[in-house]
Amino acid sequence: MHLARFPRVSLGHFPTPLEPLENISRLLGGPKIWIKRDDATGLATGGNKTRKLEFLLADAQAKNADVIITQGATQSNHVRQTIAGAARLGLQAKALLEQRVTDFGEDYQRSGNVLLDKVLGGEIVAHLPAGTDMQQAMEDYAATLREQGHNPYVIPGGGSNPIGALGYVACAEELLYQSSERRLRIDHVVHATGSTGTQAGLVAGFTATNSHVPVLGISVRAPKAKQEENVWNLASRTLDLLGVPGELSRYAVVANSDYVGDGYGLPTEGTLEALSLLARHEGILLDPVYSAKGMAGLIDLIRKGHFRQDENVVFIHTGGAAGLFGYRQVLEHV
Ligand SMILES: *Cc1c(COP(=O)(O)O)cnc(C)c1O
Repeated sequence: MHLARFPRVSLGHFPTPLEPLENISRLLGGPKIWIKRDDATGLATGGNKTRKLEFLLADAQAKNADVIITQGATQSNHVRQTIAGAARLGLQAKALLEQRVTDFGEDYQRSGNVLLDKVLGGEIVAHLPAGTDMQQAMEDYAATLREQGHNPYVIPGGGSNPIGALGYVACAEELLYQSSERRLRIDHVVHATGSTGTQAGLVAGFTATNSHVPVLGISVRAPKAKQEENVWNLASRTLDLLGVPGELSRYAVVANSDYVGDGYGLPTEGTLEALSLLARHEGILLDPVYSAKGMAGLIDLIRKGHFRQDENVVFIHTGGAAGLFGYRQVLEHV
């Protein structure tokens, strides 16, 4: 595997820190928990999409794009980071937002990521109802821009295609480097999984390097079988892109969908507990859609004795704190 042969632009601060979660580990009395600070990638409040965008936006530049189109939920962290990355590279950015969540009033619709999208100079070209075929809507919009003489580059939701997943292949390499530098044996990697690029990239990276660190994705949306199938498909395509031969084992992909609750973007009791625990014992801000749901899964699994005491578990903080401001109604009473 030779990642340096893929075009890449520099958008974030890497390597991100790998830090012990001393207080939470002590509080839970389970394995030693480490946190990989991908919330600290630095691009307009950071997050996991920064790594993907280093490869995606380099591909857009290589194809001489002048405008970037992407899509996400109203409070999408991906849309915010894409707009920021495009701004850095002098590209226009247009976003289509899907109204997947309608329960949280004016702040959800206008503050948090949506506000930052505007501050960063992005244009929200459409607010579409939940269930819209967003990929098709982007293709249609791209066709309109082409008729006007533009050369648009379409980034799928979450930046999750093989090129975007290369960002998390790079993260797998970074983790392995940090692990050998500190002589830290990583027994498990746990993180929130949605559009699948993060987990697919990690699995592809740990497979291609023959290190086979187990990765557990805590789903924020899809049921287990569906999520695992989606991750496996993208991880397999990413390994193809990397030129790694052989078929990826189905067992390399593990998702847990027990913590989704009522649906995407709807925090559960466990989500809110995880969010407060990390805030109040570590001074770390999680987000109510992804990272706190992932952490809620990790906390519950620790309480159920899923990990041994002598194990090291790395939780990847995938970012999202900008979204907290969209959830004022829920969070001011926590
Ligand atoms: C997008 C996102 C995720 C999920 O990553 P995928 O690659 O889409 O699976 C997790 N956490 C945060 C904060 C995100 O914005």
